[in-house]
Amino acid sequence: MSASDPNCVFCKIVAGQIPAKKVHEDDEILVFHDINPWAPVHILLIPKQHIVSMVDVRPEHAPVLGRMMALVPQLMRDLGVTDGYRQVINTGRDGGQEVMHLHMHAFGGPRPWKRG
Ligand code: 5GP
Ligand code: ZN
Repeated sequence: MSASDPNCVFCKIVAGQIPAKKVHEDDEILVFHDINPWAPVHILLIPKQHIVSMVDVRPEHAPVLGRMMALVPQLMRDLGVTDGYRQVINTGRDGGQEVMHLHMHAFGGPRPWKRG
């Protein structure tokens, strides 16, 4: 799998070709607000590398996935989420994945939420 896909919307965000409200960026990971939030706080965590979905994850991706997971508590705290949150990864068509670049949703803030 190549490092980026020129037709992928999330690769375009990584490349700065389309704007996003960034929450966190480091050498491997980008985090930004979802354009169509379901909850008061709805962020997306992505590896900068173009991995299509969890189906494509290989052992060498474990460190970046672990780092994504471990970032969530700090980011949610910084965004003012104080009473819990939900993390979701949709995988493939039947899993409801619409953007084919692996991403983890994190939803938080007071309910009711639009979905979830
Ligand atoms: P999926 O259904 O693939 O798990 O979720 C994709 C998410 O990406 C959706 O919640 C959708 O609102 C979000 N999204 C799609 N295109 C863009 C975009 O260009 N910018 C941002 N910030 N979010 C996007
Ligand atoms: Zn991509």
